[in-house]
Amino acid sequence: MRRSQKPEWQTKIAEERIEILFSLAEKEFRKHPERSRRYVELARKIGLRYNVRLSKDEKKKFCKKCNTLLKPGITSQVRLDKSTKTIRILCLNCKKVYRYPYKI
Ligand SMILES: [Zn+2]
Repeated sequence: MRRSQKPEWQTKIAEERIEILFSLAEKEFRKHPERSRRYVELARKIGLRYNVRLSKDEKKKFCKKCNTLLKPGITSQVRLDKSTKTIRILCLNCKKVYRYPYKI
């Protein structure tokens, strides 16, 4: 099955929009956490619609469950787990736990 090919300029615009939305989310996140979550949600939706993949860094920036930007000490709690060699990130908004291996 071949999916309809999106023109390149459209992908480019989608990428730009995602970038803008993430920077807006960063900017608004202290004053307007709800708005910030909405921006992340929109960025993810655009990514899905235009088949634009979020970078690894972008994916780790927010909570996949509630779209909150994960800021250590503010919206997230970061703990190192020596026994499993993972970084444990807890979203303080919805209590979802993420684990990533130590090495980057
Ligand atoms: Zn969350």
